[in-house]
Formats: sequence, C-alpha cells, structure tokens
Amino acid sequence: MGNKQDRPLVIVGGGAAGYFASIQSAQRTSRPVVLLEATRVPLKKVKISGGGRCNVTHHCFDPVQLVKNYPRGAKELRGPFSRFQPRDTCAWFESQGVRLKTESDGRMFSVTDSSQTIIDCLRRAADAAGVEVRLGALVKEVAPDPKGGFVIHCRGQGPLYAHKLLLATGSAPLGYKIAASLGHTITDLVPSLFTFGLKDTRIAGLAGLGKNQVALSLTVEGRKRPFTHVGPLLITHWGFSGPAVLKLSAFAARELFACNYAARLHIDWLPEMSAEDLSAWFCQQKEQAGRKQIAKNGLSEIPKRLWQSLLQPVLQTQPALIFAQLSTAKIRELVSCLKKSSFYTETKGVFKDEFVTCGGIKLKEINFQTMASKKNPDLFLAGEILDIDGITGGFNFQNAWTTGYIAGCAMAEES
Ligand SMILES: Cc1cc2nc3c(=O)[nH]c(=O)nc-3n(C[C@H](O)[C@H](O)[C@H](O)COP(=O)(O)OP(=O)(O)OC[C@H]3O[C@@H](n4cnc5c(N)ncnc54)[C@H](O)[C@@H]3O)c2cc1C
Repeated sequence: MGNKQDRPLVIVGGGAAGYFASIQSAQRTSRPVVLLEATRVPLKKVKISGGGRCNVTHHCFDPVQLVKNYPRGAKELRGPFSRFQPRDTCAWFESQGVRLKTESDGRMFSVTDSSQTIIDCLRRAADAAGVEVRLGALVKEVAPDPKGGFVIHCRGQGPLYAHKLLLATGSAPLGYKIAASLGHTITDLVPSLFTFGLKDTRIAGLAGLGKNQVALSLTVEGRKRPFTHVGPLLITHWGFSGPAVLKLSAFAARELFACNYAARLHIDWLPEMSAEDLSAWFCQQKEQAGRKQIAKNGLSEIPKRLWQSLLQPVLQTQPALIFAQLSTAKIRELVSCLKKSSFYTETKGVFKDEFVTCGGIKLKEINFQTMASKKNPDLFLAGEILDIDGITGGFNFQNAWTTGYIAGCAMAEES
C-alpha cells in the first residue's frame, strides 16, 4: 500500500486535459505523478484533431468574449479564463519551442501545421517534468480509501493508492461511470458540432457553393425563441455546413436531439441588405435593365447557380422572366425567396474536423477555483468529461488546457 506520504497524484486519461494537468502537477509537487492511459497511444484525439493539424486554441484574449463561444460552461469558465486563457496557452507552447500562428478566422495552429508537433511537445514536457506515464492502463474502478485518497483498480493490475485523483477521461462512458460511482451527476449526453442533413431541390447539385455571410434562424419544436446566428454557410452533398451551421448545431444541440433533428431553418441569404433595399434594387433593375432575364442577372453577392436555384419557386414556371415583367407582388415573392427561404432539416450530418459531446458532469458539483469535486475534495475533474463544450475553432482544446492547468496546479498545491 506504500507510505501515505509517497502516494502519488494520479491522473486518469492521457488526452489533452490529462497530459496538461500532469505536467503542471509534476512541476509543482515532490510527490510522484502517475498518468494512467487506457490505450497504447496517448493523445489520440489531438492526433486527428483539426484535420490532422490540431486547432490548439483561438485568438481571443478577452475572457468576456471568449466564454461566448461555449454553449455550455460559459458562466463557469469566466473565472478559470481569467487565470489561464488562450494567451497563456500560446505562451506555454512558445516556452516549449512550439510557435503558433493565427488564421484569418482566429483559429490557431502550430506553424508546422501538424498535430504531431503538439503531441511531441506534450510528451516531451511530461517526461521532463517527471510524470510517470502508464500506457495500456484501463481504470475500471475507483473507490475512496477510508484513510483518505483513493484506491484505483486498473485492468490486470493490483490496486494503486492515490493521494489525489484527477478524472480526465473525455467522453468515455467508463469515465462517466466512475464519476457517477463517486457521487457525480451526469447530464444527458448528446452530440454537438454537426452539419444539417436535408433534401431540397433548391440546393441539389450545388455542393461546394456557399456564402460568407447569411443569417440563420432555427425554429425547434417546444421552444418559443429561435436560435439565430450570422456567419458563413456552405452547401454540401447532404445539406448545409460551415461555421454558422456548426455554431447553431452546438447551441441547439439538446433541443435538436429531442426533436430527432427535424427543425425549420430560415435563411436570409442577404443579411447585408434590408428587404426594402432589395425591393428597391428589383424596381431599379425594372427601370434600367428591363429587358434582362432575372435568372441570368442576379446580385454579385450570390453565386449565379445559387441565385437561380433560390428563385426557383418563382422562376420555375417562367424561367425567362425579365425584370420589366415584374409586378409588385412578384417582387415581394422574389425578396421572400432571398430573405426568408425556408428549409426543413431532417438528419444530423457529421463534421469530420471536430466533434464533441454535449453533456457530462454537472457543473454545479465542481469548484471552478480548483476544479475539485464538491462531493470529494481529493477528486478533480477536467476537460470534456465536464458538461462544457465549445463551438468549433479551438475552444474545446482551450477548455482542456484551462481546466487541466487549474486542476494540475491545485492538486499539487494541496498535496
Ligand atoms: C475528430 C475530432 C477533431 C477535433 N478537433 C479539434 C480541434 O481542432 N480543436 C479543438 O479545440 N477541439 C477539437 N476536438 C475536440 C477535442 O479533441 C476534445 O475536446 C479534447 O480532446 C478533450 O480532451 P480531454 O483530454 O478532455 O479528452 P480526450 O482527448 O478524449 O482524452 C481522454 C483520454 O482518456 C482515456 N481514457 C478514457 N477512459 C479511461 C479509463 N477508464 N482509464 C484510462 N484512460 C481512459 C482515453 O483513452 C483518452 O486518451 C476534436 C474532436 C474530434 C473527435
């Protein structure tokens, strides 16, 4: 069982949160720090993240703005981000010799554009800090030790006694089961960050087209106010994708799950123009370009094939309609096609670059100054195991770095 003074700080889960926490702990304590990872290959999600490039964090250094990117956890992360935020993440990686760069949309990557750089960095830092990493160590059960600390049972191994324990098992079902056995509540687990699947003749054959600013409004049964967002949208073979869609999917994750992803999506394809201005534009075309066909002479803001498709409901019976033939009622219909086009989402698609689970350990049960459990002060929780998730753009890893950092420091301080 070992001397109580020698009992290690144990971290379960060799992902982003677990590695970062282990490094922070090991740099601050004289106790051994043991990291238990179920698989033979740690940091697997880091490897595949961001399409193999790992979107480490986001260039947003104001905690007040930063938390707005978390559909769940915004309130709770406000304090933690004032202690460790993307600026600190950049500085830490920089101190380890990894330079990050910012892309035009704010996403930050290693200048090597390779997730392996991040993996190598974390593994090197853990080695340098003296973390004992045990691979193939699947934790099956954890029980509080009546004398303090925990007894950990790994598959095929004898019990391991821990002075303090951090659960950083991501969205693994066994991790939630262990947390529940230690008294925690797990909120409903549903997918977040997905694309919208639907069939509609207006977007058939237009995969790859998109627009960098549309206004989306998603109405979900049982909720009075729609979810709204303005941003880029991409048409795919199966429906809609792009940052605006992914953001809506995250904020509406629970509601969309409840209605089996059947919802009504209104798209304003021209949010930069009011309905009145658009009407005035059609009237002006009627005056100045009356003989021109509407289908072939759209606004430059909308790709030509998309323009023709969106106006299908009006033009399908009169494909060669010219501006001079427009009545006030027809103009109203055309404006509606562009400003209020209505679609029905049918299924959830996958966003390959990043996906994340909505739900996890109930946040009220955590002390966000230390990431300690309010159920057991020797237990800590960090990363995706918590009921925290961000939108796409590096926010999910930032949650792992921040909560891992705070937990790692607190475990060491209190030992
Ligand atoms: C395809 C994909 C791409 C992504 N890309 C990005 C991105 O570019 N940017 C971004 O911010 N976010 C991204 N994410 C989300 C991000 O990867 C996660 O939010 C993040 O990895 C969570 O870190 P974590 O350490 O909490 O959990 P994880 O990374 O899931 O790590 C948990 C670890 O615990 C281990 N484990 C589980 N149970 C046990 C057990 N019982 N015993 C021992 N070990 C156990 C697992 O094997 C795993 O290694 C992506 C996610 C996916 C799936």
